[in-house]
Amino acid sequence: MLIPVAVLIVAAAIGVAAESALCPLPSHHVHFGYHLGSEDGPSDWSHLDQDTHCCGGSNQSPIDIETEDIHCAHLGDIEYERKPRGPISGNLKINGHGANLAFFENERLVTKDIPFSDGEYVLASMHFHSPSEHLVNGKHMDGELHLVHFKKEYGNFHDAVDEENGLAVIGVFLKVTDESHDHAFNRFVDGVAHLDGDKPEEVSLDPRQLLLDHKHYATYKGSLTTPPCSESVRWVLMTKPIFTTADRLGVLKSVPVEGGEALSVDRNVRPAQPLNGRIVYYACR
Ligand SMILES: [Zn+2]
Repeated sequence: MLIPVAVLIVAAAIGVAAESALCPLPSHHVHFGYHLGSEDGPSDWSHLDQDTHCCGGSNQSPIDIETEDIHCAHLGDIEYERKPRGPISGNLKINGHGANLAFFENERLVTKDIPFSDGEYVLASMHFHSPSEHLVNGKHMDGELHLVHFKKEYGNFHDAVDEENGLAVIGVFLKVTDESHDHAFNRFVDGVAHLDGDKPEEVSLDPRQLLLDHKHYATYKGSLTTPPCSESVRWVLMTKPIFTTADRLGVLKSVPVEGGEALSVDRNVRPAQPLNGRIVYYACR
């Protein structure tokens, strides 16, 4: 039986609209940049590779959080299990778009509860953006740390990327002030300061110290903010920022960008993406 082409197109459109765009990690290196208007810039990420079409999806990140439009919901605290106690270690490495700290497998922390998501999430890595990727009422913060987790049942980040609810990213804003207090954040900055070219630097810190208030955060369903932009991410954006100095932030911004200059010149920030009807919830008491 012949089915009219128009019917197939309508059916396909409905199917796409109802589901998240879930792309696997490409098996090869895909170069991308942040310069608007350049060939590999953010508006062209969806055409870079067959596995980056998700960047053109309708549930993308980052977003602009309009505090007047968020919905109040009774949500649990954001906390990790107590074990392992104390600092955990990993390898810090420049990755072309900043510096990434990948925690060693046997030391990883597990979350107690991630809103709207069943199951436990394992902290795999952390990195930063400067300025922040998420906006609050149209404004950037000075920086944003991303704590990247995969759902424990999938075993690793690679296998969780293209699963619905496979990932959870906790975002912590950085705000420049006169003093720098936070211990774990400074361990991360010290590690970046010691980086020597492509050589990995072992860093130990306690990520639990990065969450200064467990109760107050915004949350929504979105994507990775770099290709392949898979829409498998439950975002949790902590309200309380980490205070740091311009000098400390300057250390992070001294990291070189692939094929470009230091982050102080070339930002590693994807522009805010349309909400497309998604609801941003705020943990209310
Ligand atoms: Zn990030």
